[in-house]
Order: sequence, then C-alpha cells, then structure tokens
Amino acid sequence: MFDLAIVGAGPTGGTLALATARLGLSVALIDARNLKKPQPRDTRNFAIVRGSWNLLSFSGLTNALSDHAEPLNGLEAVDDARHWLGAPSALFTGNDLPDTAGEPLLGYMLEAQHLQAAIDAAVTGNEGIERFAPALFTGMEVESGHVTVHLEKGKSLKARLLVGSDGLNSPVRQAAGIRTEGRNYGKSVFAADVTLSRPHEGIARQLFTPEGPFATLPLAGNRANLAWYMKSGAAEALAERPVEEINAELNARFAEFAGEMAIDGPVKAYPLILQVATSMIGERVALIGDAARRMNPLAGQGLNSGFKDVAALAEVCADQVRAGLDPGDALALERYQSWRRPDGLATALGMDLIDRVFSNDNALLKPLRGLALAVADRAPPLRTALARQASAAQGYLPRLMQEPA
Ligand SMILES: Cc1cc2nc3c(=O)[nH]c(=O)nc-3n(C[C@H](O)[C@H](O)[C@H](O)COP(=O)(O)OP(=O)(O)OC[C@H]3O[C@@H](n4cnc5c(N)ncnc54)[C@H](O)[C@@H]3O)c2cc1C
Repeated sequence: MFDLAIVGAGPTGGTLALATARLGLSVALIDARNLKKPQPRDTRNFAIVRGSWNLLSFSGLTNALSDHAEPLNGLEAVDDARHWLGAPSALFTGNDLPDTAGEPLLGYMLEAQHLQAAIDAAVTGNEGIERFAPALFTGMEVESGHVTVHLEKGKSLKARLLVGSDGLNSPVRQAAGIRTEGRNYGKSVFAADVTLSRPHEGIARQLFTPEGPFATLPLAGNRANLAWYMKSGAAEALAERPVEEINAELNARFAEFAGEMAIDGPVKAYPLILQVATSMIGERVALIGDAARRMNPLAGQGLNSGFKDVAALAEVCADQVRAGLDPGDALALERYQSWRRPDGLATALGMDLIDRVFSNDNALLKPLRGLALAVADRAPPLRTALARQASAAQGYLPRLMQEPA
C-alpha cells in the first residue's frame, strides 16, 4: 500500500513525487509517457518565481537546472494605447520585494523542455519512487481505508490518497466526478523562441495591445521566448506559415517595442481557456496543477500556482504521516482545499480581470489603465504589493516554498 499514487509526471506531479519521497512518504508515480525517452521540444517557457525555485531546490532539481535558468530581474508592463499619459508603463524588480535575502531577483526563466527533462531524470533515478510508465490510468474505486487505482492491461495498485496531476483534461478528476467551470477566451497564444538584437537585461516585457498582450521573456544567450496573443485561428494560421513570413510580420508589428527578432526553433499556438475544478478534493482524491485549474498565462502564474498546490499538499500529507495519521483522511484533504482553493481561484480570476481590462480598446478603460500603470510605477507600497503578486509571494506560503533561513 502506497501513501500516495500520483497520476501525471508533468512539472507538478513529478515535483510532488520527488518532494514527498524526500519527506519519507511511499510514492507511486504513473504516467502515460515513457519517462526515459526525450520529449519533443516544447515552445513554452516558465517564469519560475522564488518560492517555486525553493520548492524545486528541496526536490533536488536545481543543480540540474541552474545551467539552463536565466535570472529574471524585472517585469515591465507597457500600454500600447496612446492617450494623455503618453505610453504609460510600470517596471517591477526584485528590489520591490521586501524579503529577498540580499538577492534582488524575481525568479528564473526556464524552458519547459529543460524542466521536464530534469524531472524525468530525477524521478527515474529515485529509489523512493515506484514508477508505472508508460502506463495509462483507467479508473479508481474507493474502498475502506484506501483507493484502488486501475491501470491499463488489468494492472492495479492501492494507495491512501490518489493525486490527479494529469493536466487540463484530468482523467482522475473525471473518475472522481468533479466538475469544472470556466470560459473559452476565443484567443490563442503564439509561442516561439527568438534571437534578439537588443540586450534583454533579464527583464520580461509585456506590451498590452487591444487584441491581447505581446510578451518577450528573457532566455539565456540574448534570446527570448515570445508569447503573442491573437484571436483563435489567427495564431494557429501564423504558426503554419514559412518562418521568413512570420519574422516579417513580427518585426513589422513589434520591432519598435522589442528590437529586431528572428525565430529560433519550433513555433506553436496554444488555445486559451479559463477552467477551474469546482472542488480540489474528492473521497481519497486531491487535484493539483492544471487538473485543478487552467488560467490565462498572461502573467506566468499557472505553473507557479500549481507548485503552491504541490508544496501545500506535500506539507499536509507529511504532517499526517509523521503523526501516524492517514494522508487520504477527509479532514486532511479539507485542510489542503481550504489552503489552496481560495488563493488559486483568486489568481485565476485576477488574470482574467487583467485580460478583460487590458486587452481591449474601450474608450472608458483606456485612461483608467494608463492611470493604473502610472500610479503603480510611482507608489512604493503598491509596487511592493504588485511585485509580491507577480512573484506569487502573497498569502501564507507552504514551508517548502519559503526562503531558506
Ligand atoms: C503558452 C503557455 C505559456 C505558459 N507560461 C507559463 C509561465 O510562464 N509560468 C507558469 O507558471 N505557467 C505557465 N503556463 C502554465 C503551465 O504550462 C501549466 O500550468 C503546467 O504545464 C501544468 O503542469 P501540470 O503538471 O499540472 O500538467 P501537465 O504538464 O499537463 O502534465 C500532465 C501529465 O499527466 C499525464 N497524463 C495525462 N493523462 C494521463 C493518464 N490517463 N494516465 C497517465 N498519465 C496521464 C501526461 O502524460 C502528463 O505528463 C503556460 C501555459 C501555456 C499554454
């Protein structure tokens, strides 16, 4: 009998397996992928905030990641609309955070492929984790004191708690009968890496246009990952065009903001949706990461929010096991849900609000958002609050995410 059976070895499930194994729990990790095979190159990049980096460090991943991590020194927001305030902008840096232990960084930029490769290698080499991969989760049954987890080809295993870290369409969430709510933005984000002609100085820059944001996120070697929001269909169509045409369109539209850019690697379009599970727990089931919520990625909060789920659930389960209690117990799961659901929901709705206010040409909203950026740039307490929000450091952080003493 395992303490935890985790379905999904993506960034959240893989990190949860590593963290809980280190905390002494017995862990089964199930994934449909072959974890020993390199994955196809992913065009996403993650802004990993300080608390998430601390969790990755506890989970034994940062040594393998440091060579690929680009320091994130600041975050700049610029409004594309011209009005009486000019082109208002606000820049937040690690200096706006009150508790950076003398290291004024907001976090690090990591390419998705490097993060997943480091996780796959670490779980494969970890004797505290029993791996079932490639194996498909097919169903579950709650029994007295445990849950039986069914895999393809008639295999099964027993655990005190089943964790669904199996992404947006979460088969675990469906098997537990948990519903979702949300909306389709009718937009997609075009994502690709580019080489830059101007030094990025570790600043993630976001230009808010009426169609949606255009962002350049700093990568090693004066490259950047770009996220370009467009109407559904347009981003997908652009991704199909020859690279010379994409470069021409990109530079015609954004060279003034970001300097000349040239696509460097594969391009892909991701549809944008807001989807929130109506509960993060079921009987002997907990959801983390995208299985619990998928949000607008416009401020890079999705995975960071998932990492908070990981750290909170690891803390709750480890506390239970240390006290000789059941990690799948209903009260323990209630503690996890009441810790994470309000914060996760607030972050998802906050990203939705930013999208509604900034991604339009409404004559009433234009001066208001210009004013908001101008005030944010000049008022120190507001700057600190926004920098904390951007670095996901607001609220009570789980122990595994706190700055080392
Ligand atoms: C364009 C874009 C940019 C983004 N940028 C950022 C950013 O800068 N910062 C940030 O914090 N977030 C960002 N996000 C959000 C981030 O990508 C997600 O929050 C994150 O990848 C979710 O990770 P996860 O581990 O929860 O799920 P996933 O990565 O989806 O992993 C799910 C795993 O479950 C496995 N699985 C699924 N079904 C089964 C089954 N039946 N049996 C066995 N295994 C199964 C899959 O093989 C997979 O390994 C971005 C998202 C997008 C679309």
